Amino acid sequence: MSDFAFPPPATPSVAVAAADERFPVHRIYCVGLNYADHIREMGADPEAPPLFFMKPADALVANGAAIPYPPATTNFHYEIELVVAIGRGGRDVSVENALGHVFGYAAGNDLTRRDLQHAAKKRGEPWDTAKGFDCSAPVAAIRPAAQGHLSRGRIWLTVNGERRQESDVSTMVWDVPHIIAALSRLYELRPGDLIFTGTPSGVGPLKPGDRLEGGIEGLEVLRNRIGPAQPA
Ligand code: MN
Repeated sequence: MSDFAFPPPATPSVAVAAADERFPVHRIYCVGLNYADHIREMGADPEAPPLFFMKPADALVANGAAIPYPPATTNFHYEIELVVAIGRGGRDVSVENALGHVFGYAAGNDLTRRDLQHAAKKRGEPWDTAKGFDCSAPVAAIRPAAQGHLSRGRIWLTVNGERRQESDVSTMVWDVPHIIAALSRLYELRPGDLIFTGTPSGVGPLKPGDRLEGGIEGLEVLRNRIGPAQPA
């Protein structure tokens, strides 16, 4: 076997609550527009099938870490989301069997360069630069599904202690089993995949120095501070 040309990067991973082992991340999938109130605030089609996009696995940010204010934006947004961690892979997973593929659940933030997303939508272009930038995926510790699946519970986010988002994950348009079933018809799911499941209404801008807190009832609270602007 030949050597690598340079040392390969470390495997991105997420903490597992009350465990020494970490969850090694393969891919990060995301669902867009999955709460009716957020679909309305974005002026989107409420009848559309689930919309998927991706972030690179190395966009992960640990709970408690600072997030650099990203380059090339003046409208940097938070989006608190329930994140599903996949522990068993598969293709064409049925809605009935979908929860058997879940390793656990965590709170995550689908950080977004909203100005780049609006421009991409207007021109019919992909969302990669709006959604998949460096440090765009903070995720708190994963609670194993052995402690129960999560189909309801308050989801909330504060900026500098002020409430900005509040809903209940039971109001998602596509619930976790339907998301897993739909995604597994497009990609082969693998252990280590994360799925961000969409955000409720109340999205808005961040500035350097802001303190973010967000979570889902029963899961570890996600806390991050926005650092100073950095060049690309
Ligand atoms: Mn989102």
